[in-house]
Amino acid sequence: MFNKTIETLELDKLRKLQSERLLSVVNTVYNKVPFYKNLFDKKGIKVSDIKSINDIHKLPFTKKEDLRDQYPFGFLTVPESKLARIHCSSGTTGKPTVVAYTEKDLQLFSEVVARSLTAAGAKPGMKIHNAYGYGLFTGGIGIHYGAEKLGMTVIPVSGGMTERQINLLRDFKSEVLCCTPSYALTIAHELKKRNIPLSEINLKYAVLGAEPWTEAIRTEVEKGLGVTATNIFGLSEIIGPGVSQEAYNEKGTGSYIWEDHFFPEVVDKNTGEPLPYGEEGVLVFTTLTKEAMPFIRYWTNDICSINYDKQGSRTHIKMSPIKGRADEMLIIRGVNLFHTQVEELINDFSELAPNYQLIITRKGSMDNVEVKVEVSENYYKEQRLNGDLLNTETIQNNENLTVLTKKLEKKIKNNIGITMRVKLQSCHQIPKSEGGKLSRIVDLRK
Ligand code: AMP
Repeated sequence: MFNKTIETLELDKLRKLQSERLLSVVNTVYNKVPFYKNLFDKKGIKVSDIKSINDIHKLPFTKKEDLRDQYPFGFLTVPESKLARIHCSSGTTGKPTVVAYTEKDLQLFSEVVARSLTAAGAKPGMKIHNAYGYGLFTGGIGIHYGAEKLGMTVIPVSGGMTERQINLLRDFKSEVLCCTPSYALTIAHELKKRNIPLSEINLKYAVLGAEPWTEAIRTEVEKGLGVTATNIFGLSEIIGPGVSQEAYNEKGTGSYIWEDHFFPEVVDKNTGEPLPYGEEGVLVFTTLTKEAMPFIRYWTNDICSINYDKQGSRTHIKMSPIKGRADEMLIIRGVNLFHTQVEELINDFSELAPNYQLIITRKGSMDNVEVKVEVSENYYKEQRLNGDLLNTETIQNNENLTVLTKKLEKKIKNNIGITMRVKLQSCHQIPKSEGGKLSRIVDLRK
């Protein structure tokens, strides 16, 4: 562990620490951020009402729209001259969301990334190939400084130029890879395409995040790169990557949230009411120690559950994998749908690769979903498709492909309750990640 004392702190001591920190942050934002003063006053909330972390539910939420309204520096608690760095969220619509850091915030950022990388299996002296994007996005630079703090050697490759990534992996023999899960798949496919055996690279761990992913992708990445792959989660508003991390020897049991700094809640997405541990809802964070831009009950829009793991090595709470974003939830003929639900079903078929897209169209008032999914390379060879691109005709002429299509359609209907048309694709027909976040949904209704 990078910080064993804090990572294994008994829960009552953790609560005490969180309470002290909450009181201080509430006091600061009320006195320094006019947005919070007005909001607390409007809702009749007094700073003195907050006596411990158990009172957190009395506080109002902060939403992304509030950050846009206060663009760029309305949430600052310090003079601009005290800022050490500014990043922006990778949001694709409207004004970007600005996040700012003091020197102390950058120390905190590095601390939680160092904790996360350690939990992922990294050690001082190892090399980390950092293929997260460098720039305004918090991923690249955030991981960079955390890895340096841990005592690693950083290769700041950034995303894209996959051929060069592979040459560097082969030449420098990095032990740790950090990138999006979809880009890890791209790298794995490229290795295979170029017939480079795993013995020529030296990767041991992959730390993957910035977009939702599932167990099937983990299996594919672990096989394709010869690594143990774990989840890193974060968002710019809270700090960047390193808000939570899955431990490499506790895979599949959730990611530890470093709750001495980021207090998590899961709330009902319609009412905002707090939900019990284990129930799925919107993840909300209060930053307990951030200096330049602390946020109270920030509504992430990410859907997951949180729970304590008594068998875990650390005492901090764990979050389940993100199912999707509440604003990315599709409603198809009245049924709520996240693309990860389809991904999980695709994963049950060894004949299919976890590379897919959902194409949503509307005819009259009827929404239709087409699932484009690639067959796996092995299955493609097994079926002797000899370079043929799969289309309606090739599929109709191949009984096995027709049966496979029907099986997946039936599985989707039985499990999700929506009829979707499945269209098998040959290998590498669906766009792959070039290093950034990958969109699995093509919504043609708008
Ligand atoms: P940004 O602030 O641009 O870094 O984007 C943060 C958002 O990326 C989060 O709110 C999530 O929606 C998504 N995200 C980050 N890490 C993960 C992860 N490990 N799993 C799923 N989604 C993630």
